[in-house]
Amino acid sequence: MSQPKKFVLLGATGSIGENTLRVLRKHPDKLKLIGISAKKQVNKLAEIAHEFSVPFVCLESPPSSEISFAKGTELLVGQEGIEALASLSEAEVVVVAVVGAAGLLPTLAAVKAGKKIVLANKEALVVGGELVTEAATRYGATIIPADSEHNAVFQCIQGQSGNSLDSIVLTASGGPFRDLPIEDFKKVTLEQALNHPNWSMGKKITIDSATMANKGLELIEARWLFDLPPEKLEVAIHPPSLVHAIVRFVDGCCLAQLSPPSMTFALQNALLYPQRAPGVEPSLDFSQPLDLSFSPPCYEKFPCLRFAKDALEQGGTAPLVFNAANEIAVEAFLRNRIGFLQISDIIGHSLNTSSNKPTGSIAELLDLDGQVRQLATSRIEQLA
Ligand code: MG
Repeated sequence: MSQPKKFVLLGATGSIGENTLRVLRKHPDKLKLIGISAKKQVNKLAEIAHEFSVPFVCLESPPSSEISFAKGTELLVGQEGIEALASLSEAEVVVVAVVGAAGLLPTLAAVKAGKKIVLANKEALVVGGELVTEAATRYGATIIPADSEHNAVFQCIQGQSGNSLDSIVLTASGGPFRDLPIEDFKKVTLEQALNHPNWSMGKKITIDSATMANKGLELIEARWLFDLPPEKLEVAIHPPSLVHAIVRFVDGCCLAQLSPPSMTFALQNALLYPQRAPGVEPSLDFSQPLDLSFSPPCYEKFPCLRFAKDALEQGGTAPLVFNAANEIAVEAFLRNRIGFLQISDIIGHSLNTSSNKPTGSIAELLDLDGQVRQLATSRIEQLA
């Protein structure tokens, strides 16, 4: 029998991290966790380290209280620590489940170490798609998408020749406000926005689903993962989230991937690829009626999706601006500082006031990212 795959999990305490651990509990003979990181949740990280006897642990800053990791556990800290973990020589696979643009640097570190990267963070590609994909080619790293839509595309194109792919349709549930009349959007509360009909996810991505900014980020992510021009990337509203993506080939035939709306399916596929093994949860039940309906998205109700499409078409640094403004706006909405409609207002304002440039070095990207965040923050102060 082959040795278990050694892997590192960056962002172990979030929702993707938890689902990755469910896959690991199911397949302890196939996977071995050797490194974990978290931003702030020290106790939860310590529990994970104990449960799986993880030798390397990383926190954003040194823990304030005395925390007991198992004997022999090495504690790493900060940006240097997470990048060391991302390039750990013993690791074959690095799962990047860090939230937001903070995923960029560890993803690049893993790429430069030539790892197999199970990418659950979309912002790394949204912000630094060109840099990351070029570096992946140069350093022989492989990126396996773990976002459910992109993993679905990844599954559908296996065994197909590269030039046979025509276009991709990413499905979207439409979130909690799919059927809300446009005039009621101004009354949307934080509580309503956090109540996703199908998926149980972290707060940031749940709000992104309610505004459909998430699908916009996914379009940009798909552009880099599958090397297709913007006009070949589509969105279809599919309320039950059973079909995760549809791939259209040049001959007009379409393939789709179906599974229940839980992240364990995509994560297990990405982690065990090219192997398949019994899943954590039951598959779809076709003895019951299943709704497989699709419809086009409404851009008037979801301006964030329109802004993301515009940013994708403009290219350059526009996707970075879209993402940075969105992160700041969502954070403010989560803290009840702005209303739901102001999220798109802040994104639109940031895109209008930042000039679009070709993407430069990582330092230039991070610098611009900081500028856009400041711009968005002062816009919030004006609005508040
Ligand atoms: Mg997704």
